Amino acid sequence: MGRLDGKVIVLTAAAQGIGRAAALAFAKEGAKVIATDINESKLRELNEHAGIQTRVLDVTKKDQIDKFSEEIERLDVLFNVAGFVHHGTILECEEKDWDFTMNLNVRSMYLMIKAFLPKMLAQKSGTIINMSSVASSIKGTVNRCVYGTSKAAVIGLTKSVAADFIHQGIRCNCVCPGTVDTPSLHDRIQASPDPQKSAYMTGNDVIIDGGWSL
Ligand code: NAD
Repeated sequence: MGRLDGKVIVLTAAAQGIGRAAALAFAKEGAKVIATDINESKLRELNEHAGIQTRVLDVTKKDQIDKFSEEIERLDVLFNVAGFVHHGTILECEEKDWDFTMNLNVRSMYLMIKAFLPKMLAQKSGTIINMSSVASSIKGTVNRCVYGTSKAAVIGLTKSVAADFIHQGIRCNCVCPGTVDTPSLHDRIQASPDPQKSAYMTGNDVIIDGGWSL
């Protein structure tokens, strides 16, 4: 018996990174996972896992999202993962960077929720999870101007949907990870002036005491 037996879960950006890991974890718990992404070849690798079916979906395209939602009879969880990290301050962020990021990181979630929420409302139940980040309204992060802005907007969108539909059986939350080891993180590290210097831990108390301080 898995904790998600019988649940139907739709994920975006599931071909790699956090989305892929989440798809595998959900399936391991017995969910029926519909994993989507624009990267068809990487996405297809998930087909070999029990409980996962795949579908190509560009979350910036309203017509594709609407068509996809028509194909889905019911769903329990919508996990909006897709997002892009632009590197730079406001001075390095051109209008095209701003528009691309806000489109992929925020508008896509607006489109996905609008397409799938009516199904959840008809069922009187459903959970929406949006991928935000610590680099958002939680923390100003160097060289993450439009990224942080977009992820702050995701938090606002999440709270708004949560408040509007709390009495109709809908829960909406977002997750705000710090840095996670994914393929795109490797690309960002390689793009830094000195990749060897990219250490991760600082300011932590690592207690090694056999549990004495518990
Ligand atoms: P990633 O950047 O490695 O992969 C992103 C995936 O999104 C790819 O499979 C790509 O094909 C897909 N994608 C890109 N454009 C798309 C589109 N238009 N439609 C559908 N899919 C599209 O993934 P990641 O690093 O695991 O990040 C996933 C999410 O988690 C993002 O929203 C990111 O901002 C967020 N996040 C990541 C970290 C981190 O350190 N990795 C930290 C906090 C938040």
